Formats: sequence, structure tokens, C-alpha cells
Amino acid sequence: MPRALITGITGQDGGYLAEQLLADGADVHGLVHEQDEAAAAFASSYPSVSLHVGDLADGDRLRGLVGEIEPDELYNLAGISSVAFSWEHPVLTAELSGVAAAVLFQAAFRLQERTGRQVACVQASSSEIFGVARTFPQDESTPVRPVSPYGAAKAYAHHIAGVYRSKGLHVTSCILFNHESPRRPTTFVTRKITATAARIGADGSGVLRLGNLEARRDWGWAPDYVDAMVRAARHDVGGDFVIATGRTHTVAEFAEAALRHAGVGDAWRDHVEVDPELLRPMDTAEMVGDAGKARRELGWEPTVDFEEIVGRMVDHDVELLRKDA
Ligand code: GDP
Repeated sequence: MPRALITGITGQDGGYLAEQLLADGADVHGLVHEQDEAAAAFASSYPSVSLHVGDLADGDRLRGLVGEIEPDELYNLAGISSVAFSWEHPVLTAELSGVAAAVLFQAAFRLQERTGRQVACVQASSSEIFGVARTFPQDESTPVRPVSPYGAAKAYAHHIAGVYRSKGLHVTSCILFNHESPRRPTTFVTRKITATAARIGADGSGVLRLGNLEARRDWGWAPDYVDAMVRAARHDVGGDFVIATGRTHTVAEFAEAALRHAGVGDAWRDHVEVDPELLRPMDTAEMVGDAGKARRELGWEPTVDFEEIVGRMVDHDVELLRKDA
């Protein structure tokens, strides 16, 4: 039975990853922050997961935990997840989304040296490391040129993964493009849209206030991306893998699909307004990934298309409203 340690276990991807690993029969351990409000709910939903309290900024604690738990697989999902927050707190972002990865890989490497057993590490990297890419689609050879403190921290973690790989650690950097689900917080545009669309569908009134309607994203289904990370951990060798659908849609298209799914029909336009306050000073206009390498080497492919992702998210929000009522 493999033993897995997941940082960021209470987030969207952490929950799906824990579920997949438990279904595989793994012994699952997770790192949670003392002040993580989601930890109690997570513990009662997944009683068989062992949760360990620790701070990503506390290197000694992280090293101690890796040494104690002795995981076969280590998934580093934790960190700051908001680009906007990273501009407010660039140093903290560097510590949590950058330096912590180095601490974990160093600890995994030492554990591997001590026990002689492989410790397969997966770094949840991000398309944000490419910044404002000049080539489309982006793949593993696209230059890493971040444009935000979040992207820069993730770029450091991506590079240090490569450094430890060349030292003999099985470490993979999964360069994840946007991946969504009903578990996305409403700080992300997709869930903000589906939660609002569900309300508009129910009342027949209300407005969806958005920023840049023309931003294009390559939106995938979060559980598929988690599956890619597990495949990467169990692949013969570590490497870099872009995980993406290869298809893009605009924010406006997402809004239209969600409002139509909520039953608003052609009147969807009347419910969308642009709020200049929501425009970002530095926004990535288009991100689209080429996951050809993951398809070839990991046998991975996305299983849920755009319309279905939107539909599942809206249905979930409609159901939540029904329960509240
Ligand atoms: P990101 O790609 O990781 O930044 O994910 P987001 O879901 O936060 O944003 C995706 C795109 O939607 C970006 O280009 C945003 O500028 C754009 N967008 C447009 N309106 C909104 C909005 O109201 N909220 C958010 N979060 N993004 C918006």
C-alpha cells in the first residue's frame, strides 16, 4: 500500500487527490495549517486520512514530517493560489509557493538516501510560470517568463524540481492550466459565474458583473488534472508535463454557456455587465496548453469537455440554492 503525503490537502485539488488515492488503497497523509478553517470539515469527510498540523514556512517542521511519515509519494499542492494576493504579499508568496518546494524536495531526497526507497514527488506547477506567452500553444519547451509574484514563486519551485531531478530524485512538475470544478472558490471567474448564473436562473433577475470578457482560458476538469499528477508520480521517470485541454474559451463564452444552462436563454446578454474595477492591470490574455507529452507518456487525456464542466458546475450551484431555500 503506497503512502502518500499531500500538502494543500484541503484545497480543490487536494480533496480530489485524497479521494483518488484512497480509492486506490493508499495510506493518505495531509499537511494542514493550524488556522486552516477547512481542516475540521475535511477531517470529518475523510476520517481515514491522517492530518498533520504544520506551517509551510516552517522548514524544520516540514523536514521532520517527511522524515517521520516516510511517504512513497509526495504531492506539493500547497501555496498561495491567488495572483492578486501575491502582489500584496510577494515575500510570503515566495516562501510558501517557492521555497517550501525546495524544503520538501531536499527532505524527500534525504529520505530516499536514508531508506534506499524511491520517493516520487509531484510539484503542482502552473501555466502562470509562462506569464504573457509569445507562442501558442504552450508546452514544456515554452520559456518560463512569469509576470506576477505568484508566477515567479511557482517558477522557482518548477526550476528547483528540475534541479533535484538531475540529482536523482523522481520529481515531476505538472504545469497545470486552469482546472475547475464545483469546489472552486468564487474568487475564480468560473465559479463566480456559475454561482451567479444559478441565482439569476432562479429569480429571472440579477446581474453578473465581470472584468475582462475577452480573456481566453484553457479550462479543464479538476479531477482529470489530479489523475495526471498520480500518473506522473507512478511514471518510470520524472519530468515536466503540461496538463491542459488544448481548447480555449472566452470569459464571455463561459458566462453565456452558464446562463443558458441556468435557463436564461437568449436574454443572457442582459444579465452580463462589465465592471471596470474588475479589470486587472496585468492580465494574461490567452493561455492554451499542448498536453501532447502527457498524452504520449502518461496515457492521460481530458475526459470532460467545456460544456459539461459548465453544466456540472451550474447544476451544483442550482442544487445548493435549492437546499438553502
Ligand atoms: P486565473 O487565470 O488563474 O487568474 O483564474 P481566474 O478564474 O481568476 O481568471 C481567469 C480570467 O478571467 C482572467 O483573465 C480574469 O481577468 C478574467 N476575469 C474576468 N472577470 C473576472 C472576475 O470577475 N473575476 C475573476 N476572478 N476573473 C475575471
